[in-house]
Amino acid sequence: MSERELFAFAKERDIVLLENEPLCDHTSFRIGGLARLFAMPKTVEQLAELLAFAAQKGLKYAVIGNGSNLLAPDEGYDGLVIRTPEEAPRWSEDGTAVTVASGWSMTRLSAEAAQRGLTGLTFAQGIPGTVGGAVVMNAGAYGGQIADTLVSSRCMTPWGIRTLTAEEHHLAYRHSVYADNPDWVCLEATFRLTPGEKEAILAEMADYAQRRRDKQPLEWPSAGSTFKRPEGHFAGKLIEDAGLKGFTVGGAQVSEKHAGFVINRGGATCADVLSLMEQVSQTVFEKFGVRLEPEVKILK
Ligand SMILES: Cc1cc2nc3c(=O)[nH]c(=O)nc-3n(C[C@H](O)[C@H](O)[C@H](O)COP(=O)(O)OP(=O)(O)OC[C@H]3O[C@@H](n4cnc5c(N)ncnc54)[C@H](O)[C@@H]3O)c2cc1C
Repeated sequence: MSERELFAFAKERDIVLLENEPLCDHTSFRIGGLARLFAMPKTVEQLAELLAFAAQKGLKYAVIGNGSNLLAPDEGYDGLVIRTPEEAPRWSEDGTAVTVASGWSMTRLSAEAAQRGLTGLTFAQGIPGTVGGAVVMNAGAYGGQIADTLVSSRCMTPWGIRTLTAEEHHLAYRHSVYADNPDWVCLEATFRLTPGEKEAILAEMADYAQRRRDKQPLEWPSAGSTFKRPEGHFAGKLIEDAGLKGFTVGGAQVSEKHAGFVINRGGATCADVLSLMEQVSQTVFEKFGVRLEPEVKILK
């Protein structure tokens, strides 16, 4: 397919399509080279159309949300990167269910639910990703997770659009059916929330925000927890006990504040982060016999 065809397609639908867009501007790590093409559909329907078009034309593409669990390669991406749309949430008539576009901010959704006096997404305060990114990895914090409230999601598969029930997501710790099927894209998701006491919900969220500020290196670019929690352990504790707090490769460093976070101290490359992760995993395995599995995803 010629790029001209894609530009014509995007122009017809008023989809923003950029050339040579720096991925470091779209990842919380602030790392990543240029995406040859970068599209920003505004609606879920535009996203679906664009995905169908890209698949039909055999175009290499990848879907990202807010890039807050993502490592983008230094050499960039030689294809089309699609940023999911931020279409406003649609609330049910009874006001307890909400259908949200995959690109909508999880923190914003959590705040809106709180303002409506609804619980269920309180934990998501401070998770800097999108609804799609959160569903795909069953994001969670402080005892809450996406699995608690997810009713369904609308999913683009190579065979067309399907609605997946909560059970069909096979949600587990930082896992969903989307992880097993990397060519599936979450278009939008529906959650059912529970009425609660607005002041209590806001107080709980303020507490979580304070805990994050106290414990996490929010002042540095990162992708949150670098590794998944190994069964029976905490990744951060193992890394700290291995003496790796402050361990540095190039511009990448194991945070002094929270060893579960790798931070970009300035000028870190994707190669720095990957090398650091490899060395951390190796050392932890040698010392404790525990294999650390990355939580952060690599853009492919
Ligand atoms: C400071 C900080 C704190 C964090 N705290 C937490 C926390 O408490 N709990 C937690 O779970 N996570 C946490 N994270 C990690 C991250 O915010 C979550 O994993 C979030 O859900 C990722 O969403 P995203 O939109 O940024 O996804 P991205 O990083 O853009 O993408 C992540 C992966 O999902 C895929 N993807 C994204 N959208 C879609 C879609 N619509 N359909 C199919 N695939 C898609 C991408 O291709 C990629 O493989 C934290 C991150 C930071 C930087």
